[in-house]
Amino acid sequence: MKSSPTDIYSLSAAPGMQDGIGPRIRPTRLLQAQIRRGFRALRFGNALESDFCRYLRVSGRLSRASLITVSFVGILVIILIDQALLGVPGELVRPTRLLELGVMMPVVVFCGFFCWRWPYSRYIEGVMLLMFVGMNVGMMGQRVVASHHGFDVPAEMVGVTIVAMFSLARIRFWLMLPAAIVATAAAVATELLFVDAGANAYYHLFAASLLLTIGVMGGYSSEYFIRWTWLNGTLLRYMSRLDSLTGLLNRQALEDALEKSIAHAYREKIDYAIAMIDIDAFGAYNDYYGHQAGDVALSEVAYTLDSSTRRPLDVCGRFGGEEFVLLWMDGNALELTTLAEQTRAAVEQNQIPHAASTVAPWVTASVGVCHVSSSDGLVSLKDVLGKADRLLYEGKARGRNRVVSERFVAAPVARRASG
Ligand code: GH3
Ligand code: MG
Ligand code: MG
Repeated sequence: MKSSPTDIYSLSAAPGMQDGIGPRIRPTRLLQAQIRRGFRALRFGNALESDFCRYLRVSGRLSRASLITVSFVGILVIILIDQALLGVPGELVRPTRLLELGVMMPVVVFCGFFCWRWPYSRYIEGVMLLMFVGMNVGMMGQRVVASHHGFDVPAEMVGVTIVAMFSLARIRFWLMLPAAIVATAAAVATELLFVDAGANAYYHLFAASLLLTIGVMGGYSSEYFIRWTWLNGTLLRYMSRLDSLTGLLNRQALEDALEKSIAHAYREKIDYAIAMIDIDAFGAYNDYYGHQAGDVALSEVAYTLDSSTRRPLDVCGRFGGEEFVLLWMDGNALELTTLAEQTRAAVEQNQIPHAASTVAPWVTASVGVCHVSSSDGLVSLKDVLGKADRLLYEGKARGRNRVVSERFVAAPVARRASG
């Protein structure tokens, strides 16, 4: 799920967004810190960099495909028109064909096959660089051979491939830069050592350097922009799905995650339990300690509740105010009630002082747990939450700081009279 190509605005540091577990590391803080620090060196902190690279691999697919297509078609067109339109002399056709079909075309075809077969592979950058090398070897070879026959193949083609790679290959700037410099140096060396370009030599070198500069500047600014967009897009996604105070899933994301887990449990025939949790006498806590202290206590309780999730499809979120919802997957009624009891006890064991509580000297919580068996079929989230809520208020009525649990029983469907 985490490597899903469509899920490009999610962080592996925050599994909660994909799987319904509350985030252990606050992704919003991670992203905001990176935005504050900046990224002029085109590198994020370790926690974000690998997710960004995944995004680059996934989002650059079309761009890479267009570069490969242009290279492929370019070679074919040159083969078709070199003699007729470009005036390549007859004796040059054989060696240039050899370079086109023996060096350039195979690397382009291999690269195309690789990108089609493994479009999100972590080796994609290396494969694109291989194509860059193959194309340049072919072009420089053609220039050398052509110059020995007194024919001028444009030296600037190396610069054109550099610009094309920087703008379309979607590989990281810091990988492409050394490759571009080496290619330019190789082109200059070839020009000076093997090509007799006469007075034009320095003109060619000037054009090659100009194209390298344009490629580098374009590559830097486009990667900077891509990083900026990804950071802000990802931040926006998390801000719209996470509760800003507790860092748990907010109401909308919570309901989505619960629906997803319930559907999964139904498909896989797994028992589960949904718990509604409400902090006891929290109004009195605010009155006694103030709302800011209340916020801190709420966050601590949220962290404790979140820590009770165990499996990828367990869910923890803020339902509203000082009420939370937990879903635990897989377990019989006894096991899941024990888990609920441990969670309630963990809140109490935090020993957050609550001098105004009539229940205990600490902050406590009441829990209503509704078990759903796989034999119940697909149940409605609304019905299970309603049942958990009733059980919670039964716990409140019985004195608070306790767990009340019961099996979910679907309301009988009214039979339609026949005939
Ligand atoms: P009970 O034991 O019956 O649940 O009593 P209670 O006081 O917890 O319940 P009540 O519904 O009367 O009060 C809930 C309080 O929770 C009121 C509200 O100020 C507080 N609350 C809700 N959301 C927040 C929040 O984000 N921060 C703070 N500090 N308080 C909150
Ligand atoms: Mg309440
Ligand atoms: Mg309460």
